[in-house]
Amino acid sequence: MRIAIGGISHETNTFAQGLTSLEDFKRQGGFPGLLVGDEIIEHLRGKNIDTGGFIDAAEAIGFELVPLIWTFAQPSGIVQQEAYEELINLLTQRLEQAKPVDGVLLDLHGAMVTEELEDAEENILDRVRAVVGPDIPIVATLDLHANITPAMAAVADTLVGYDTYPHVDCAERGEEAARLIADTVEGRVHPTTGYRQIDMLLGPPKQCTLISPMRDAFDFVRELEQRPGILDITLSGGFPFADIRHAGASVVVNADDAPALAQKTADEVADYMWQHREEFRLELTPVRQAIDDAIAAERGPVVLADGSDNPGGGAPCDGTVMLRELIDANASRAVVAHICDPGAVAEAVAAGVGSDITLTIGGKTDSLHGDPLTVSGHVRLISDGIYHNQGPMMTNMPVHLGRTVVFVIGGVEVLLTERRAQPFDRQCLYSVAIDPSERLIIGLKSAVHFRADYAHVARKIVDLDTPGIHNPDVTRYEYKRLRRPIWPLDE
Ligand SMILES: [Zn+2]
Repeated sequence: MRIAIGGISHETNTFAQGLTSLEDFKRQGGFPGLLVGDEIIEHLRGKNIDTGGFIDAAEAIGFELVPLIWTFAQPSGIVQQEAYEELINLLTQRLEQAKPVDGVLLDLHGAMVTEELEDAEENILDRVRAVVGPDIPIVATLDLHANITPAMAAVADTLVGYDTYPHVDCAERGEEAARLIADTVEGRVHPTTGYRQIDMLLGPPKQCTLISPMRDAFDFVRELEQRPGILDITLSGGFPFADIRHAGASVVVNADDAPALAQKTADEVADYMWQHREEFRLELTPVRQAIDDAIAAERGPVVLADGSDNPGGGAPCDGTVMLRELIDANASRAVVAHICDPGAVAEAVAAGVGSDITLTIGGKTDSLHGDPLTVSGHVRLISDGIYHNQGPMMTNMPVHLGRTVVFVIGGVEVLLTERRAQPFDRQCLYSVAIDPSERLIIGLKSAVHFRADYAHVARKIVDLDTPGIHNPDVTRYEYKRLRRPIWPLDE
């Protein structure tokens, strides 16, 4: 059995400034960029991501992997059409050359938007289908933030989405997808699909599967997965920071040769979500209130989630609002990870470790995440910005923040970096000699993923109300292309 594997992955924030280029796919922080052929196996074996799971399963079951291309860019603005064309052509050409194959396993995100395609994954699936024809199974893994469209569900034989947010089950879902395709190829199962769009637009904190209401929704999903004939259920929270027709939650059910059962089960999940919609209403805390509460409590760590400037959802990661408020509040034992500002890093590096300088930090990408902040401080440490995740999410994957400076402003430490990457793993701090357990306040440019590695050490976690293009409150955005009505924009 020969199974082709490949992936083109991007979470597109259509509210972000600028376009995402081919260079952004080839060279970005945190991941190996663009991998071709055997490089995929070499770099991704043993990693807790979808393709890592494909590789594990192939080795366990004993089928041959035919690696095409795998690529990922940090979440950012709309993808340049020519960048997308280059990547999809590379993938389909290699697939053409690899034929005959018995199946195709794709590692996708599910929320990529290009200059011409609102639903790039539909196009990926169509073009792969055009190469292999109607009879070869195509199975794709998806992020929990996939905006799954009716067309995607129709073209793929099977879609398998993450069941966790923070995404800690990527390799596990990859392995499940690989087992499903092997079973399909060998005729042990005949997947049929049920699909329902759920007219709900959910802010990230309410999609977290560690806490209610999403934890309860997944308990319900797991219960339904025990039903005879059900192969897999994907409940997607959706990616709300994409102004496209099909943004929002959805559900895909795969049942063994039982389309009516698949559809009935999808309807039950969709109805469950709709009935529980009031529980998905969001509460955010004003920044100053969160900081004052943390200072008054005196015991930490209190993790402040600056989700609005989360680079993991396409935000610039150079927002200054949280940092400014910490300085104004005279906070001590506080750390902010991180502000991406290559210019400030260059100045601090030129000044050198031990110097006291004045820098103008952040706020340079756009005017939506706070103004540039001019502050005097101390250059305590300069590092290469490289660490490996050791927490439960994307375990073992390397992160490259570029040169990283620990700049100390009174009682507040800020990490200044050359690159954007979501600081969800505690190694981000340990790698610059900061022990998070010793800090009173830890401000992170992350919406939810940090919970995987911080929930058990944080005394308290607060979702901040800061400005930005990843602010979790979806009622604040001006959507033009999104289908209506949709909850909570329309009651
Ligand atoms: Zn996600």
